[in-house]
Amino acid sequence: MSLPVVAIIGRPNVGKSTLVNRIAGEQEAIVFDQPGITRDRTYRPAYWCDREFQIVDTGGLVFDDDTEFLPLIREQVLLALAEAKVAIFVVDGQQGLTGGDETIAQWLREKAVPTVLAVNKCESVEKGLFQAADFWVLGLGEPWPVSSIHGNGTGDMLDQVIAHLPPMDEEEAPPETSVAIIGRPNVGKSSLLNAFLGEDRAIVSPISGTTRDAIDSLVQRNDTHYRLIDTAGIRKKRSVDYGPEFFGINRAFKAIRRSGVVLLVIDAVDGMTEQDQKLAGRIEEDGRACVVVVNKWDAVEKDTYTMVEYEKVLRSKLYFLEWAPFIFVSAVTGQRVEKILDMVDEAAEQHQRRVTTSVVNEVIEDAIAWRSPPSTRQGRQGRIYYGTQVTTKPPTFTLFVNDPKLFKDSYRRYIERQFRESLGFRGTPLRFFWRGKR
Ligand code: GDP
Ligand code: GDP
Repeated sequence: MSLPVVAIIGRPNVGKSTLVNRIAGEQEAIVFDQPGITRDRTYRPAYWCDREFQIVDTGGLVFDDDTEFLPLIREQVLLALAEAKVAIFVVDGQQGLTGGDETIAQWLREKAVPTVLAVNKCESVEKGLFQAADFWVLGLGEPWPVSSIHGNGTGDMLDQVIAHLPPMDEEEAPPETSVAIIGRPNVGKSSLLNAFLGEDRAIVSPISGTTRDAIDSLVQRNDTHYRLIDTAGIRKKRSVDYGPEFFGINRAFKAIRRSGVVLLVIDAVDGMTEQDQKLAGRIEEDGRACVVVVNKWDAVEKDTYTMVEYEKVLRSKLYFLEWAPFIFVSAVTGQRVEKILDMVDEAAEQHQRRVTTSVVNEVIEDAIAWRSPPSTRQGRQGRIYYGTQVTTKPPTFTLFVNDPKLFKDSYRRYIERQFRESLGFRGTPLRFFWRGKR
């Protein structure tokens, strides 16, 4: 059984490594003999009050100067949070709040992972409370004064951490695919959900009150469990307050964050709107897998468009989701509705797919052979030394290069296209980190 992961995040020198040593004590770092785990991360087993977890420490990065560390911490945050149940965000209580802390806090607030804010270097208990109070403005809840060197405060802080870990028995629960059904009002989200639920499947239970923003239904098909996150039902109940056309875009954003795969439902009659594009942008930004469901296909005059032509028209307005497959359905007649979950399965599989380092490097070598990296007028040539997949959901690759500045957007896009051409990854976004020599 794998232990839940707790990520340690923060600027350089705030005391992350010291805190990890304090929490994990003398326990050896776990070395994973698994492709894709880079040397930048170590996993240390730890426990507090009978709860076991592992701490992923992405520290140990060396930074040339302050302007350079933020992109690297962004990378840390994304990697760590892809697998973490809780984050400990460490700040320096003696130095006080910095702009870097604010930027990192903003990234953390955007993610669904609960964060415990540890204000380190607070040796004096009374003074520590004042030092910590400055950090309320980060909007991450209560700042906990700690001293990683002396150990005071770390217990209270860890109480918060384990409170956010999943209950022990939940860790054994069968894996399920969380599917968010999102789209503008009246595109047919509820009708689709009913079509799923109405089919011949065991519905485990509709879980109401999971959140105030959506209603979840659990559905089992073959051996796969799905959690369908429906943002439409709630609106219907409250339509008296809001009016039926009210579009709670924040509710859609929250549903995206809780999901693995998003069904972006588009109305075939209305076509692609600005709101659809906004949702698409968020799906790609949050790194979720996606299937675009074009509903009400029954209501489109077939001599206006064929499916292939219409897909082209829609795609030309949906640049963020080039990688997402389309399906044309009708919730009313049931046409192709049963194929949607097949496509969800495929997208979910690609979202968590891992490729070996040797395959990654074959693709890179091939890409370079077809088109060499750009060089500057002064004759400096970009070089890619090697690449490796560092995490999944979405598949994320780090490419080690001589100097990231030598690789402009057009070449970066070319590399992504080559990855997709060779490896597929239909239905999932990909991430690439371009890392310079230290
Ligand atoms: P990291 O870069 O965030 O991993 O930071 P380190 O753990 O390497 O610590 C950076 C510096 O802060 C070191 O000189 C530590 O000795 C010091 N430090 C770490 N924790 C504390 C603490 O609780 N109190 C004080 N006064 N200094 C600390
Ligand atoms: P939601 O607001 O996205 O949940 O949309 P609803 O499921 O409530 O559907 C809005 C309206 O579109 C209703 O009048 C539905 O009957 C209609 N509708 C939904 N799906 C289809 C479809 O596949 N074809 C047609 N012609 N109408 C549909």
